[in-house]
Amino acid sequence: MKRAISILGVTGSIGQSTIAVVDELRAQGQEIEVEAVTAGQNLVGLVEACRALKPKFAAVSEPSMLTEAREALAGLSVEVGAGESALQEAGARPAEWVMSAIVGAAGLAPTMAAVRRGATVALANKECLVCAGPLFIEAARAHGARLLPVDSEHNAIFQVLTHPERVEKLTLTASGGPFRTASHETMAVATPEQACAHPKWSMGRKISVDSATLMNKGLELIEASYLFGFGSDSIDVIVHPQSTIHSLVHYVDGSVLAQMATPDMRIPIAYALAWPDRARVSTARLDLSTIGSLTFEAPDAARFPALGLCRAALNAGAAATTALSAANEVAVEAFLARRIGFLDICRTVEEALTELEGAESGLIANSPTSFDQVAAVDRAARDAARRIAGSLAAA
Ligand code: NAD
Ligand code: MG
Repeated sequence: MKRAISILGVTGSIGQSTIAVVDELRAQGQEIEVEAVTAGQNLVGLVEACRALKPKFAAVSEPSMLTEAREALAGLSVEVGAGESALQEAGARPAEWVMSAIVGAAGLAPTMAAVRRGATVALANKECLVCAGPLFIEAARAHGARLLPVDSEHNAIFQVLTHPERVEKLTLTASGGPFRTASHETMAVATPEQACAHPKWSMGRKISVDSATLMNKGLELIEASYLFGFGSDSIDVIVHPQSTIHSLVHYVDGSVLAQMATPDMRIPIAYALAWPDRARVSTARLDLSTIGSLTFEAPDAARFPALGLCRAALNAGAAATTALSAANEVAVEAFLARRIGFLDICRTVEEALTELEGAESGLIANSPTSFDQVAAVDRAARDAARRIAGSLAAA
């Protein structure tokens, strides 16, 4: 059966793993056509992806790169676009399955373009869910778009969520990141290189830093709450350094179902691409005797305040989670540019949220009722975070 897919964020870590899965399934004789692909500013990567996938349409995020992109892609018979509207066109083009793997809130509008036409959306980009929360979920419902979680924890839960109405709680597992056993002093002087050296997963820089602060797990807590409809009290986080169990669902009869696999994003991607069937992919098979033991520990709230910040934002409401995600994007960027220290990331996010909570505008007091309101909260949080990071940098 022929199917058409699109990959938003094709040059990234998830985008590349998606290409690997598509390649493998095509080699098995599956007919997968690629309608559209998008990239940020990585033209070299985009050209490579277009050679491999032969899409009909390719978009870059930067409008001024249009001519350069057309020249680079000449001869590949692909239509080329640039800028926000081109990214949205990529999401809107008629592919039945869309991988949402742009990083950050930049992925929201292109993903929404796919949601609005009722596509099946494989959701790797957690920020668009954290950012637009209930509005995003409601839009998917209203337009009949199916959301298939690709984030490994949420994919794990989705795989074992046999009786959603009989669930007592969810447990998200966390690897603990590169600073799991580091001292506060070491973390205070951590460099972007150290923060991005993840022990278990190879990922883009933003999510790598998020994993080092545990903000990633906090964002995933919010993601799980919006996706599966459970409150913060019903979602636990446990550190599991072997990253073998990807998450657990606890049922009312005391049964606990979990999904295990070697940490390889091709597995949840293949699951989403083949769903409701399963596909054969050549990932390393799980060998428990080699792993030997699986260990678990509670996250250290003192060294990793991000988890508490995310829980508080989730309890405060959808505008707070929008603001948190936006402030975090700004703070991570400032850290990666070496303007602020590692511990300043959470400080920036916390202060930005405190500032917005106290603002007379009451901007984050109520849940946004439109995507315009989401954008306004996102902007205000970025402004606050930029100012706060600026003063931390100057200090
Ligand atoms: P990445 O940085 O490797 O890739 C991001 C992609 O988005 C690239 O194609 C890049 O060119 C594009 N991009 C960047 N900025 C853009 C902008 N402003 N406008 C349009 N496109 C832009 O990131 P990644 O690790 O592949 O992660 C992608 C998403 O998937 C993130 O939301 C992340 O949280 C989520 N995710 C990733 C992993 C993983 O293992 N990498 C696991 C779970 C979830
Ligand atoms: Mg994850």
